Amino acid sequence: MKKNPARLELPQNTMKTYGYRVVDAIVEHQTTQHEKLPVALGSREEMDSLFLEEAPENGMDPNKVLDFVLEKVMTNSTNLSHRKAYSFVPGPSNYVSVMADALATGYNIFSGGWVASPAAAELEIITIQWLLKLFGFPKKKGGGIFTSGGSMANLTALATARRIKCGDDFSKAVIYLSDQAHSSNIKAIRVLGFKKDQIRVIPTDNELKFAVNKLKNCIAKDRLQGLHPFCLIATAGTTNTGTVDPLSELAKICKKEDIWFHIDGAYGAVAYISEKGKPLMKGMAKADSLTVDPHKWFFQPYEMGCLLVRNHKHLSHTFTEKPEYLRDIEGNTSEINFYDHGIQLTRRFRALKFYMSLKTFGLKEFRDAITYNIELAEKVESILRGSKYWEVVFPATLAVINFRYHPIKKKYSEKELDTINQYISEKVVSSRKALLVTTILHGQVVLRMCLINPRTTLDDVKETFELCEHFALQWEKKNVEAPSTPS
Ligand SMILES: *Cc1c(COP(=O)(O)O)cnc(C)c1O
Repeated sequence: MKKNPARLELPQNTMKTYGYRVVDAIVEHQTTQHEKLPVALGSREEMDSLFLEEAPENGMDPNKVLDFVLEKVMTNSTNLSHRKAYSFVPGPSNYVSVMADALATGYNIFSGGWVASPAAAELEIITIQWLLKLFGFPKKKGGGIFTSGGSMANLTALATARRIKCGDDFSKAVIYLSDQAHSSNIKAIRVLGFKKDQIRVIPTDNELKFAVNKLKNCIAKDRLQGLHPFCLIATAGTTNTGTVDPLSELAKICKKEDIWFHIDGAYGAVAYISEKGKPLMKGMAKADSLTVDPHKWFFQPYEMGCLLVRNHKHLSHTFTEKPEYLRDIEGNTSEINFYDHGIQLTRRFRALKFYMSLKTFGLKEFRDAITYNIELAEKVESILRGSKYWEVVFPATLAVINFRYHPIKKKYSEKELDTINQYISEKVVSSRKALLVTTILHGQVVLRMCLINPRTTLDDVKETFELCEHFALQWEKKNVEAPSTPS
């Protein structure tokens, strides 16, 4: 038989030049990205005009496709690794992990079961053990799994909590979270098929922490009605303000009430490994499960989340299913099949990037980067407090700060302040020079900075404030100092 021509291959020389071009593009991007604008804007119409076409029946020169992508796709994507990307939770990433991802994908390693790839499973076990130790979880009994992100880690946690605490019947089960909990938790609860009246969203106090008294009342009332409180979701670093719930107190309540204690630390928990962050998170090691997102403040490229659990058997009890075709590859119990510890069967080799970047930079560099970020936010807070234009709305907490334009000389109404701050954010974003969007705190429109990029400098932030002040003055010129219309 003739060799099949449809093999989806390139000649070896083309492979090499093509690959070198990709690496060159990545390095060029990473070393010059901060000189470029972080924000990409584009309507659906504009993107359609660039990309809309039928699937091509015949191929074309790979280098032409690459040229097109570098020119049109990469330039039309907002860069959350940029020093002036302050919004959401940015993704600072690091080059070593990017190359590790390229290796993992290049070798296309199946990271589902031990037999398919012992080294990949071993690296996941080892790196999870590193994390267990870092977060004060029991190293022998504890366990965990890498997921695509925090949303999947939370879903995995809640499925586990339900399995362990409720078994098959969850008709009376009730779950508790605060009004500052991340939306992915509600999504996960919905995916799991809970009804609305099984969810208790507990208000937060003035500091936006879980209101413990209200929680206790709620649990007591639920018990009186014959319901089954089974899980509580606390947050270590709310996305809005970086607030850490009173973990020790919540842990005690959970222990007393036999409630699964899940902590969503997707963005903030990593601060626990730094001297500055640790005291804020007392009680974290008491959780039954903890979500951490290495693709946020552990500087990994997307996608990488992680769930840690106090007892690794809880994962296998929840997720083990034995179809016939996996019969032969079970191995012994120390040889973990991660498909038995979570939702995915086929999994990419996420542990590799974590392993390689930690080996390359060492934990100390990660700790120092996190400390730098926390201190940067504190410095930003003192700049804002010392300025006649700005007001700190929520103090720097775990590298997040919320503030608003509120000049001392002018008497603006709350409504005007909301309008100005919204205006500032819209103008800054459409200038494309910084990604700075608003959030709502206590009913006020405020600007929010999440400063977890270790390459962001105080000067970057000062420049951004100047840009904001420029637009604020522009708004005042138009709306306050406008010549009054002749009567
Ligand atoms: C980002 C975040 C999530 C969701 O994580 P993804 O990785 O985006 O899925 C969940 N909880 C908190 C507190 C977060 O900050």
